[in-house]
Amino acid sequence: MPEPDKRWTYPNAGQGAPPGVRHAIQVFRAYPVVMRQHIALIWWLLGPKGTNPYKMTPTEASYVSRAPEARSCGRCQHAYRHMATGVALCNQIQGTIRREASCNLWRRSVNKRDFIAHSKE
Ligand code: SF4
Repeated sequence: MPEPDKRWTYPNAGQGAPPGVRHAIQVFRAYPVVMRQHIALIWWLLGPKGTNPYKMTPTEASYVSRAPEARSCGRCQHAYRHMATGVALCNQIQGTIRREASCNLWRRSVNKRDFIAHSKE
């Protein structure tokens, strides 16, 4: 078991990642353990302090707030939904997304959970 202040530091995370992502992981690791245990690293990286500089803007990706369900964010492999809050983020575009939305980076979700099925909306 790691030392108490080393918990939730994900020691192997960031290997081979771009410098900006490695820096974001270092910032995450510097937070007190009580904060790290409540912010999953993946969520941190998907958010504005992580990989945002590497993502497209919604406009660049032709994001639209409504799309046919079969091609929606809710069926896309790039979508991540926070199970506690219901907030959804994308690993391709900046900002929050809506499960009914879509963009031209859409890829069918294959092995991943479909966040439509778990939506509180
Ligand atoms: S890539 Fe586009 S369609 Fe897929 S989750 Fe992100 S915004 Fe939605």
